[in-house]
Amino acid sequence: MASPSESHQELPVPPALSAPCTRTTMPLHFVIVGCGLGGLAAAHCLGRVGHTVTVFEAASQIADVGAGIQIGPNLSRLLIRWGLGDELRKASGVPQAITFRKYKTGEQVGWTPWGKNMDRDYGAPYYHAHRADLLDMLFKLASPYMTLFLNSRIVSLDPVLAQVTLESGQIFRGDVILGADGIKSMVREVVVGGPDKPIPTGDAAYRAIIPTSEMAKDPDLKPLVDNPEMTAWIGPGRHIMAYCIRSAQEYNLVLLHPNTGLREAYDVEGCVEKMRVDFAGWEPRVQKLLALVSSTLIWPLFDRDPLETWIHPGGKVALLGDACHPMLPYRAQGSAMAIEDAAVLGVLFSHISSREQIRPILHAYQALRYPRTTITQLASRSNQTIFHLPDGPEQEARDKSMRQAMEDALREERGEPALNASSGNANVWADRGKSGTQFGYDAEMEAERYFKEELERL
Ligand SMILES: Cc1cc2nc3c(=O)[nH]c(=O)nc-3n(C[C@H](O)[C@H](O)[C@H](O)COP(=O)(O)OP(=O)(O)OC[C@H]3O[C@@H](n4cnc5c(N)ncnc54)[C@H](O)[C@@H]3O)c2cc1C
Repeated sequence: MASPSESHQELPVPPALSAPCTRTTMPLHFVIVGCGLGGLAAAHCLGRVGHTVTVFEAASQIADVGAGIQIGPNLSRLLIRWGLGDELRKASGVPQAITFRKYKTGEQVGWTPWGKNMDRDYGAPYYHAHRADLLDMLFKLASPYMTLFLNSRIVSLDPVLAQVTLESGQIFRGDVILGADGIKSMVREVVVGGPDKPIPTGDAAYRAIIPTSEMAKDPDLKPLVDNPEMTAWIGPGRHIMAYCIRSAQEYNLVLLHPNTGLREAYDVEGCVEKMRVDFAGWEPRVQKLLALVSSTLIWPLFDRDPLETWIHPGGKVALLGDACHPMLPYRAQGSAMAIEDAAVLGVLFSHISSREQIRPILHAYQALRYPRTTITQLASRSNQTIFHLPDGPEQEARDKSMRQAMEDALREERGEPALNASSGNANVWADRGKSGTQFGYDAEMEAERYFKEELERL
């Protein structure tokens, strides 16, 4: 079936919402370990409300790998409010739909329109961007508010004194330490009180970017650029996610496949030939796309169960982002969750008026964030099972469920009433209830509400 979605169109920038940005009367010194997307967002959110922020980053520069990132409306809402609307729009693409295809034949089994529906239903756009562009935007946003030390790996910390020690032996003290140090977090081990390593999933992701100018030369591939969608080819034990980035100048490929024994790093050069062998037998368009790949990175996927607590008992050290709730990329929400954490910390700590409130505010942060991030972690895992079903009765039931939601979506496009097949659908993006919860969420507004209902009396 030909893709029924409309062609790419420019979306108006939603009006900036009035930012909940109270300035604190009790400035604190926050020490942030890790300058990834979560650490940068936290530096911005805490700095702009009047706190002092020092960030320590192990790497020698702030840079990201060549790969795409999906920015759902729950994240784009915050970024637009923080003033990044124009830059985001210029640097990103707006996928018009998500399409699921059978791995061998390319037959379309699922389709949910996105595009302007995202604004209509959830109040903000869905973007596809380059990770380096998003990191750069957040870096510019955070820079005025942080003192950043590069080449500065934290090797130990004293949670009672709120003191960190660098590899060089230098010691820094703050009022609060935030562990934004990613999936291999050392701050997490201090919080839980012992070794706590991520669990290898046995899956890895090849990541590759193709120039769309090459795709445009092939009539089979050109529609993937002319009609930008989030295309997912799903097959036994593997799937591919593919989408346009950088104003459709580049096409981003994420190829999930079984792979064990890789070390925990995102910057390992993969073997293009092996990648092609891993996806041999997939439909002709996949073969053509892989023929255009000249190099690939390979990311081993690690997971963790939801952590019991994100706060050290001493009440001065907390975790955010992948350090406390890493998730498989199958819901494309990992960085959104990290940045939402930062937004909530910024709002709650804007209201602090005495040091005694540090501990209850950190616990309020956890209480507010924990259920949402846990549900998202588990939903990401569930997609792994759904996408990777072996051919057979369960896969047929999955495809039938996805087809029903696609029929519903097409009916709606024609102005006919939907049959409501979307609730509990195997295509989670077709489930209006789940999408509303995931994408309609406003982390800053939730934090303001929580403060008024639960904390104002402190
Ligand atoms: C294949 C794949 C695709 C993904 N796609 C998406 C997507 O489309 N959308 C989405 O929202 N999410 C996606 N994610 C998830 C997302 O990348 C992460 O959730 C997000 O980057 C987490 O940000 P963070 O700041 O918590 O951690 P990180 O980005 O890992 O940053 C941690 C930082 O801490 C530094 N550090 C570590 N230890 C120390 C130390 N001891 N001292 C000082 N510095 C230290 C590191 O150098 C690093 O800079 C994807 C993930 C994968 C694996």
